[in-house]
Amino acid sequence: MGKTAIVNGRLINGLGGEPVENGLVIYEGNRLIYAGEAEGYTLDGAEELLDAQGGTILPGLIDAHVHIMMEYTGVQKRLETPFSYKFYQAAQYMRKTLDAGITSVRDALGADLGVKQAVEDGLLAGPRLQLSINALTITGGHGDGYTTSGQTVELLQADYPGMPDGRADGVEAVRKKVREMLRAGAEVIKVHATGGVLSPTDHPEFTQFSLDELKVIVEEARFRKGIRVMAHAQGAEGIKQAVRAGIHSIEHGIFLDDEAIELMKEKGTFLVPTLLAPVSVLELAAASDMPASAVEKSKEVIEIHKESVAKAYKAGVKIAMGTDAGVMPHGLNLRELELMTEVGMTPMEAIVATTRTAAECLGWENQVGSLEKGKLADIVIVRGNPLEDIASLSDTDTIQLVVKDGHIEKNLLD
Ligand SMILES: [Zn+2]
Repeated sequence: MGKTAIVNGRLINGLGGEPVENGLVIYEGNRLIYAGEAEGYTLDGAEELLDAQGGTILPGLIDAHVHIMMEYTGVQKRLETPFSYKFYQAAQYMRKTLDAGITSVRDALGADLGVKQAVEDGLLAGPRLQLSINALTITGGHGDGYTTSGQTVELLQADYPGMPDGRADGVEAVRKKVREMLRAGAEVIKVHATGGVLSPTDHPEFTQFSLDELKVIVEEARFRKGIRVMAHAQGAEGIKQAVRAGIHSIEHGIFLDDEAIELMKEKGTFLVPTLLAPVSVLELAAASDMPASAVEKSKEVIEIHKESVAKAYKAGVKIAMGTDAGVMPHGLNLRELELMTEVGMTPMEAIVATTRTAAECLGWENQVGSLEKGKLADIVIVRGNPLEDIASLSDTDTIQLVVKDGHIEKNLLD
């Protein structure tokens, strides 16, 4: 395969430096050969040219928290949906995610190895996936589908081959559960360290799992080539316990207090804010038959959540972009960047959170997250300048070109 040169665009390389007004990006096969000033490289004339038409060239964007296999629906609808239907729906969710310029995601539970393999083998178009398979959860915890009727109705899915049930209590049980997730193909371990908004019988501030259980989860993951643990953690106590146990990223982080923020800085823990999640729960409340308890809890936490993230940002906690897509429809991921600027981040900082920092959060920074020689050819061209109008990214039509692994996945540049 020959070289492709992207010309006539402003280059934002994902590392946070000044944009290059007359940028040039060259890739061959699935690797970047050059990304920088147009003057810094002499084209030999054999390159295939892609004209960015004065838009902005970015690295493929990364969402560190999605649920690619779901979009929230009410219980009745879930009961009426045939088991295999969700796999066909997921094909569409992945397409929408790519179309939004997201070329890598960390799946925060719900996607199994077959989905990832289908994307890798080219059977389905989709972002590069980092799998957690299913989340570990205590009996009665955030991931337990037990309802007040006594019936169990899983929010995402019941266990099936390749998708172990996530419930476990006690040190030895969680150790085994981590091993089951790894056996099923987990590349990151997900744990619910507190209650949440969508679970009917708990609350975001409830702490779930003991410190000892969390430590064993972290230890068992680390034994396998340094696999990391991400924790759904909303209440301050559960967050601190998770950070103390050595968890790598705090998801949501609704009630961060000063001590939690200090601990996160000390340990280098990432925060994945998912500001879009409670916003979406409220927006979608009527249309998607959200339980009243979820709507009430979202109202309760939405302002506190923003204040927490603002505080963490000011203190210098590492922030990686994540949306909880699946709670809201897929493809709207980049709305999160506008919300990040509302808590104080600059547009450039919001972009870096979606490129380099998100790549670091996934442990993939040597491959993706920036436009640099040798990295994978994951490239996005957007219309206009997102530094001047970060909200424009929310519109999928702004995303003009998406290249993943050297393949053009979307092209509106004609
Ligand atoms: Zn989630």
